Amino acid sequence: MRISYSALETFTTCPAKYKFQYLERIPAPKSKEAVFGSLIHEMLKMFHEPSRPTPLSEEELLKCFTDKWDPGVYNDQQEEAFAFHQGIEMLKNYYQENSPLKFNIVNLETSFEAPILDGEELHQITGRIDRIDKSEDGAFEVIDYKTAKKMPGQKEIDGSLQLSVYHLGLTNRWPSFQDKPVKLSLYFLKHGEKLSTIRANQELNETKEKILSIVQKIKTSGFEPRPNALCPWCPYQRWCPLFKYKFIEKKTVNEEQVKNIIREYFEIKSRQESETKRMTELKEAINLYCDEQAIDRVFGETGYITRLAQKRFGYDAIKLKEILEPLGKWNEILMVDKAKFKKVIEQLPYDLRKQIDQFKKLEREFKVITASKNKI
Ligand code: SF4
Repeated sequence: MRISYSALETFTTCPAKYKFQYLERIPAPKSKEAVFGSLIHEMLKMFHEPSRPTPLSEEELLKCFTDKWDPGVYNDQQEEAFAFHQGIEMLKNYYQENSPLKFNIVNLETSFEAPILDGEELHQITGRIDRIDKSEDGAFEVIDYKTAKKMPGQKEIDGSLQLSVYHLGLTNRWPSFQDKPVKLSLYFLKHGEKLSTIRANQELNETKEKILSIVQKIKTSGFEPRPNALCPWCPYQRWCPLFKYKFIEKKTVNEEQVKNIIREYFEIKSRQESETKRMTELKEAINLYCDEQAIDRVFGETGYITRLAQKRFGYDAIKLKEILEPLGKWNEILMVDKAKFKKVIEQLPYDLRKQIDQFKKLEREFKVITASKNKI
């Protein structure tokens, strides 16, 4: 399989979005955040362009940004002015901290391929690196610019799959980098902060396994939607079973009736919740009273309540097996504890997980109803 890192990331966030974007290739307009990010990236590439005879001045950089600015993607003037101001601030701060003369830039916006072998099958993970620098001590640094507001913690950076893939891509494209130290950095332009990390060989092997496991999931996926925090900005809402309803112009159902059903659903749910809460309080009060009086049954006008001691026992599985197996009864009681199985399977190497996956069979498919009070 040949697949970009962004496609892998999209699948992990939402398989349905992956299907719309990469399999069905439904054209979708770029979000204003994506347009903004692309323009900033373009400016930084231009700023660092090694072929430029003299470095760009701050005024020239800001003028280019202003000339290329497209106000049309924003909803209103206020939003547009805010975004424009943010872009100017980002570039000004960047300019102050990053004189092009300070860096030895090896490449800008360069694409890569990271080959990963799964038995006989070769997968190519593709992507694009914003910038690669070489420092005086011979070390390389991969830099990816981020325009997002949110800045993750160091732990997330240390575990970032994207940066691990960049490392694999870099060493594949320039095998001579294999033995050299590689620093992997995310530059958060809004905060003016660069967070860096490195990868050990063991971590790179784990990255390959993680990717193979995503590729395996893609191969067998039903591409179900997975609601997530980015849904409000998803350009495929019109096609997504979770949002499509909002876009159907001529609904075949009686909308009033649907609204009433939803209203009643929430009313009952809310009643159930407050009754469950009250029930817990009553049980606590009964327990307290029984403890104080050293009794286990209390009487009221409408009936009585009894509390009985309950004990749960576990068995030593090895001893149990020794007794039951010779009787041919062991298999009869053996049932896979799905929660524990899931935990164990996550710790297994990819090869074993893949083997086990072959024996996975669909037992039952059903829809679970959940309710959310948030309006989308
Ligand atoms: S709206 Fe959300 S759930 Fe639907 S396709 Fe987009 S990301 Fe997935």
